[in-house]
Amino acid sequence: VDQQRSYGEEKETNNQYLENTNENNTTGPPVELKDRGLNVATDQRPPVEKFRPGYLWVSDLIRQNWCEQQLYYTFTIPGIVEENPVMLQGSSLHLARELAVHDIVSVEVMSSEDIWAVKLLNLLTAVQGFLDGIKIAREIPVFGTLYDNDTFLVGLVDELRFDPDNYTIELVELKTRQARSFPSKAQQTQHNLQVMLYKKLFDNLVQGKVSKEVMVKHLHISLDKELGEGVRNNMGDKLLSCKTLRELTDHLFERLQCLTCVSGLSIEYVHQESQETMFHHSVVYDENLLESQIHHYMGFWRGNRPPEGVDIEEAWKCQRCDFSSVCEWRQIKAEECMRKNKTANNMS
Ligand code: SF4
Repeated sequence: VDQQRSYGEEKETNNQYLENTNENNTTGPPVELKDRGLNVATDQRPPVEKFRPGYLWVSDLIRQNWCEQQLYYTFTIPGIVEENPVMLQGSSLHLARELAVHDIVSVEVMSSEDIWAVKLLNLLTAVQGFLDGIKIAREIPVFGTLYDNDTFLVGLVDELRFDPDNYTIELVELKTRQARSFPSKAQQTQHNLQVMLYKKLFDNLVQGKVSKEVMVKHLHISLDKELGEGVRNNMGDKLLSCKTLRELTDHLFERLQCLTCVSGLSIEYVHQESQETMFHHSVVYDENLLESQIHHYMGFWRGNRPPEGVDIEEAWKCQRCDFSSVCEWRQIKAEECMRKNKTANNMS
């Protein structure tokens, strides 16, 4: 197996971004559920400003796809949801796959700029690897804005496969399952959205649609601040001259433009206990669907509409939701149902 390097963030002195590192937890409530000291009733800022440090993660939108109301409660209701063994097993499988293609290097980070430099280095390692003839990369950061410049999104792609003969790139998402059954329709919808978002972000980077100015605006970073020693000591010979994020970003963007957009999307479902691959599912990229979904989701994040819970057809999700006993949406829908039943009974 081709060995590459990946850079892990060893320490964050500015922990603005620390809580956003659990990108692989994409279903159900998040691992971290804590009181963020917010006064939700009086804080008038839109959710994207109230709950996130300037950007969203792809996993935020995937959880939103499951139930937006549930996502909202994870930000606003204090408590702790413990990591369950299923999640932990899934994470260890991801790590094992990652270590099969590259080593992980711990990097001491001292600033937001250092943290972003680490992300850029990881993306650059994958890109340069492809240009040097390596065919597979794992845990690749992608970022940028989508259909407008208002919301910045960050994601972590499980796997990219490069075919140098046909000059194509396939994106693969790994999903672990306890049961040997095919995922439910609701889970498939989530997974499909996830890979489509990754493709959109990656393609935008390759097509030069992400600018340094947009990064500065959303990430509150300085492109010209000198990077910390921890980062610079781990850059490797080719990047020795990069002293700032601006130089590193320029180098990355130039290299990215030598690549091509993602041409295939698929999801690999792996049985957790045996770690055997059960099925591969190909996903057809649907730009119109993606755009309309993102447009709807952003209505919530920008505070243009309140959070929405699940439709009545998906009420089964409420049975395993940590917030079902306090959920106002569920209460309102139950009352609506009772009223409808009463009216129907009166008419018959
Ligand atoms: Fe969503 Fe149902 Fe949970 Fe309410 S109870 S947050 S509608 S899943």
